[in-house]
Amino acid sequence: MADCLFCRIVAGEIPATIVKRTEDAVAFRDIDPRAPTHLLVIPTRHVAAVRDAADDGLLGGLLRFAAGVASELGLDAGGYRIVTNTGKDAGQSVDHLHFHVLGGRKMTWPPG
Ligand code: 5GP
Ligand code: ZN
Repeated sequence: MADCLFCRIVAGEIPATIVKRTEDAVAFRDIDPRAPTHLLVIPTRHVAAVRDAADDGLLGGLLRFAAGVASELGLDAGGYRIVTNTGKDAGQSVDHLHFHVLGGRKMTWPPG
């Protein structure tokens, strides 16, 4: 989608610190990190949110990709959180599906 921020990052039109990329997914550093490691994992194909993803393979692949990147960044020992905000009550601010991968510090529960 031409006017989607994350589609523009996928296309290389907006710079981002990309950590890993495949044909189907991209992991890059959040511009406003909320943990020592804070990545965004997105599909290269535009999907607005998790509720719009009709493709089990896309969702499964994205989660496995996120876990793989977390492992490669050394987060397995301490653990990490994967979260996706959907819609306004959850505070979704970019309408392109993304999993936040947060690690490197102790997390609190429940999230705010
Ligand atoms: P949401 O609020 O939708 O769950 O998450 C959107 C995330 O995208 C936020 O954590 C925000 O910091 C991040 N973000 C917004 N604009 C940019 C950008 O231009 N580049 C990067 N790398 N992250 C961004
Ligand atoms: Zn998009």
